[in-house]
Formats: sequence, C-alpha cells, structure tokens
Amino acid sequence: MSVKTRVYEGKAKILYTTDDPEILLADFKDDATAFNAQKRGSIENKGNINCSISSKLFQQLETHGIKTHYVDSPAPHQMRVKALKILPLEVVVRNIAAGSLCQQTGLALGTVLKKPLVEFYYKNDQLGDPLLTRDRLFLLELATPEQVDTIAHLALQINKFLCDFFGRCDITLVDFKLEFGLDAQQQLLLADEISPDTCRLWDNSKLRDPNLRVLDKDRFRRDLGNVENAYQEVLQRVLKAIESSN
Ligand code: UDP
Repeated sequence: MSVKTRVYEGKAKILYTTDDPEILLADFKDDATAFNAQKRGSIENKGNINCSISSKLFQQLETHGIKTHYVDSPAPHQMRVKALKILPLEVVVRNIAAGSLCQQTGLALGTVLKKPLVEFYYKNDQLGDPLLTRDRLFLLELATPEQVDTIAHLALQINKFLCDFFGRCDITLVDFKLEFGLDAQQQLLLADEISPDTCRLWDNSKLRDPNLRVLDKDRFRRDLGNVENAYQEVLQRVLKAIESSN
C-alpha cells in the first residue's frame, strides 16, 4: 500500500494520491472563504454536507448522460475522483441576476434572465478570477474553440437538469459555477463540486424575503447566520427528491 501524498490544497478541498494513479481522493474541508479569500471562517459539517450533496448530484448527472469525475464516496467528507487536467476556467451559468452580474451591469437582484447566461472566468486567485472574453480566453490558450463550445453546451445541459432537480426540492437555482477537466483521452469531464458553496439556491417558499430565502454561501458572505442549517436543509431536500424518484 503506497503512502497517500497531498497533491493539491484548495480553499475547500485537499486532493491526495491513491494506490491507483488514475484516481485521486478529494477531502472536503469545513473551511469557508469569500471575496477571494479576504473573508475566512468555517462552517460546521460543511465538508460532509458538500461532499454528500456533490456526490448525489454527480451520480444523478451521470445517469442523465453527463460525464463527471465522480468515482465513489468512501466517507461522508471524501470523494474518489478521476485524475484530470483541470482547465483554469470557472464556468458560471446564471438564470437570475445576482452577485457580480448585478454589480457589473446594474441589473436588479432577482431579475429573471430571458435565457440562461454562460460566462467564463479565468481561475486565477492572484488576478481575482477576472471575467474573460472569448478572445482573451484564446489569447491565453486556456482552452480550444472546440472545448469552449463543448463546455458551453454541457453547461446548459447541466443547468437544465439542475433547474429541474432543484425545482423538485422546492428550490430555485439562481446561478452556479462549474469546472471541467480533461482525462488521458482528452475527454472533457465535469469536475470540482456542485454544492451550496458553488450555487445560489433560493427556498421557493420564502422567495419574497431576500434573507430568509438564501440556502447557500451568501449566508456566510453576508453574515446572515444559520449557515450550517441552510446547507443541511439543501442536503435533506436533495436526498428526499432522489428517494421519491426511485
Ligand atoms: N462562484 C464560485 N466560486 C467562485 C466565484 C463564483 O463558486 O470563485 C459561484 C457563486 O457561488 C455563484 C456563482 O458562481 O453561485 C456566480 O458568482 P458571482 O460571479 O456572482 O460572484 P460572487 O459575487 O458570488 O463572488
């Protein structure tokens, strides 16, 4: 048995090698950061909850024909994933205006977009993850035109699936961030996580209240309190929706 080596530590996860060179172990942390790590804290049980939500969503996506890096989940805070070359892109899909879209365009919070918006950001903490244009993305050779088209298509497919799935949880999917990676065959797979850290999720029964409706990391960003409860609520609804569809 080989010793597991830490290959990468991000803000929310640590990646370790495993006995299989094609598989890594992702350990989800309770650490929470916001505003490009200027705000730091921790959310109790976040590692377990986010790993569980992500595992369930990746499994659901796989059954709907979307290829992901998910292999299995040996413990509540651990996910075994395929070793990929992660593209340095943050792919954001938006259904409703919030966050940086409102700040940068003046659109009012909560504006329902006529069609989903797919955006590419440069995953680079030092530069503050800037919004990319297509030409800048190609200038920096962050992906090929074919890869960008495939990613945009996949992102919209994933959005369609997730909007419907969260709808069954009585939750509105406002926006979310995806990351993609390439396997040894240069195949694009969905990577990273899908969780209340990476999605804006609003409780449909409380939509009129801009604070009460929030079931995601905005509770931490905006010091709204009850962060763990909100994350736990999302997990319970995800589990219930899967159970009732079986
Ligand atoms: N997001 C993320 N990681 C990032 C930046 C954004 O997971 O580094 C998610 C965020 O949680 C939200 C969506 O992507 O669901 C859009 O985020 P936005 O661009 O509005 O940035 P924010 O104002 O949240 O920093």
